Amino acid sequence: MRNVGLYWFGNDLRVHDNVALLKAAAEVDYLLCVYCLDPQWLSPNQYGLAMMSANRWRFLKASLLDLDKQLHKLGQHLVVCYQSPVKAITALVGEHGISSLYRSRQTGFYENQLMLALQKQLPSLQLVESDTHSLYSLEQLPFALDKLPDTFSKFRQAVEQVPVEKPLPVPDFLPSSPAASTDWLVDFPDCLKFTPDADQEMVFNGGETAGLKQLTDYFAKGSASRYKELRNELDGWDNSTKFSPWLANGNLSARQICHYLNDFEQKVGANESTYWIFFELLWREYFQWYAHRHGKYLFVFQGIKQQKPLTSFYPERFQKWCLGNTPYPLVNAAMKQLNTTGFMSNRARQIVASCLVNELAVDWRYGAAYFEQQLLDYDVASNWGNWQYLAGVGADPRSNRHFNLDKQTRQYDQEGSFINKWQGQSPNLPLDSVDAADWPLITP
Ligand SMILES: Cc1cc2nc3c(=O)[nH]c(=O)nc-3n(C[C@H](O)[C@H](O)[C@H](O)COP(=O)(O)OP(=O)(O)OC[C@H]3O[C@@H](n4cnc5c(N)ncnc54)[C@H](O)[C@@H]3O)c2cc1C
Repeated sequence: MRNVGLYWFGNDLRVHDNVALLKAAAEVDYLLCVYCLDPQWLSPNQYGLAMMSANRWRFLKASLLDLDKQLHKLGQHLVVCYQSPVKAITALVGEHGISSLYRSRQTGFYENQLMLALQKQLPSLQLVESDTHSLYSLEQLPFALDKLPDTFSKFRQAVEQVPVEKPLPVPDFLPSSPAASTDWLVDFPDCLKFTPDADQEMVFNGGETAGLKQLTDYFAKGSASRYKELRNELDGWDNSTKFSPWLANGNLSARQICHYLNDFEQKVGANESTYWIFFELLWREYFQWYAHRHGKYLFVFQGIKQQKPLTSFYPERFQKWCLGNTPYPLVNAAMKQLNTTGFMSNRARQIVASCLVNELAVDWRYGAAYFEQQLLDYDVASNWGNWQYLAGVGADPRSNRHFNLDKQTRQYDQEGSFINKWQGQSPNLPLDSVDAADWPLITP
């Protein structure tokens, strides 16, 4: 009997260093390669926001087109369904007599809920999951997941010496598809119109080909030797690696980056800066396993702590923050950069997050949801984990990370060039249109 498999692509849009794809190639006679664009991504979620901006869609679309191209080289093609994954996969399993489903292990709680729903719907379907999104596999971790260290420092000390395995090659071939190639992407969201931005430097092109180019370009330029001095700059292409959008979509693997980094250290020399790139990849790694470990608690107001923060939801303040219309020029500039390019430096992310939570007293989850919509590098674990950390409800031994906005402006934008470039000057209006003094007096 012929053995038909389905490969369900998610945040692993590549053919190199993809253990799940290699496994599928070795085990089945026919393989259907599928990606599901969930229409839900475009409807408002509980924060009143669609999950995907035009910038994100542009990057994802380019990644899917490039993946299809890579698959064609291996005699395959991508089937894209514009439907909820459970519905789409259930139909495909019936139509093609699929017996096993392969995919990368997901960190997100909701992504895993989909897998459980599929399992319930199709109990005889064999589900095979492998780690492609992290540096280490679950089996390589030197502790059980429920014993994940409660701080990053302890995690780093535990894993730092675990060797990172070499990235895997592209499969020599893929079993052929049981389905004909169709013209896809025609009816997915025309409502998302991307307008090219003014800042050509910050245009990221999605896909494995562009990701591998950024990897070789970054190390060829030698910027890695100065990474630690430059990484806190608010702007500038070479001041940090810019690998994150490709990593988040799985166009690049973290192991591949480590491999290039090791190579650079051997040829050019290792220093504190090259170590620091690895250090940051370990932060990413920590958040991946943190998301696995804490499941739905990644999204709750009090995070993994016992006490709720003293913040709330103020629609006007939140809207002003999103649009970059707050009384804080540095915050405005960073938010306008995000809205235009889909990217913001790590320093600026910390500053705007601290402002939302501390100056504006807004529930941190709205900020995380807005980042989810806008960031090209949106990654469920890194985003919600970092927001929890900044809001004092996550893996931070300190309970408060309040950034002094004047001090940050003096330190990182002394000349005001970042604020000028992104037109962050304040609108000179009060934060709330209803002044606190106009509220009716409550008399006992
Ligand atoms: C509030 C907030 C939200 C964030 N949301 C995301 C997100 O959705 N997706 C995302 O990839 N990163 C997120 N980050 C982390 C970090 O800001 C970005 O990874 C980084 O700015 C990406 O730029 P880069 O690739 O040039 O990073 P580099 O400075 O060159 O770092 C190299 C790589 O290390 C990893 N990394 C660096 N810093 C962190 C960090 N603090 N946490 C996790 N990984 C890190 C990234 O994969 C990055 O590509 C967030 C940070 C904050 C403060």
